[in-house]
Amino acid sequence: MALQDCIFCKIATGQIPCHKIYENDSVLAFLDIGPLSEGHTLVIPKAHFEKLDQCPPEILSGVIQVVGNVSRAIVSALGCDGYNVLCNNGMAAGQEVHHIHFHVIPRTSGDDVFTEWKSGSCSKDQAELLANRITQNL
Ligand code: AMP
Ligand code: ZN
Repeated sequence: MALQDCIFCKIATGQIPCHKIYENDSVLAFLDIGPLSEGHTLVIPKAHFEKLDQCPPEILSGVIQVVGNVSRAIVSALGCDGYNVLCNNGMAAGQEVHHIHFHVIPRTSGDDVFTEWKSGSCSKDQAELLANRITQNL
C-alpha cells in the first residue's frame, strides 16, 4: 500500500483528525475510533513501518516508552484493574492498518474483552527442535 493511502500516516501528519493523547517528534498516541474498552489507545511511530520487526530499534524504543507512560496515565485516569498491550503484525494476526501500532486496552476484572486464551501443548522434543530452528534464524 502506498504511504499516501495509509490512514495512520494521515493521522500522524494531521490530514485526518484524532483524539490526541500525546505526541513528540517521532511518536503519537491517540484514542482508537472503535474502542474495545473505554480509553483504548493506539501508540504509533510517526514514520511509516508496517510491522514491528521492520521498525528500527531506536524508534521502537521511543514508541515503547510512550506505551508505558500512556498505560500509567490510563490506569490513573480511569482506575482500571489492568491493561493489555497488543501489536498485531500481518493479516493472519488481525492487522488491518498496515502501519505498526500498539493497542493499550484498559481492563477491569470480569469484563468481556478477551474471553478465551486457548493454550496448546508442545512436547519437550518438539520444543527443543523449535527453539533451535528459531535461534538459527536470529
Ligand atoms: P489492527 O487490527 O491491529 O490493525 O487495528 C487497527 C485499529 O485502528 C482498530 O482498532 C481500529 O478501530 C483503529 N482505527 C482505524 N481507523 C482509525 C482512526 N481513523 N482513528 C482511530 N483509530 C482508528
Ligand atoms: Zn503509515
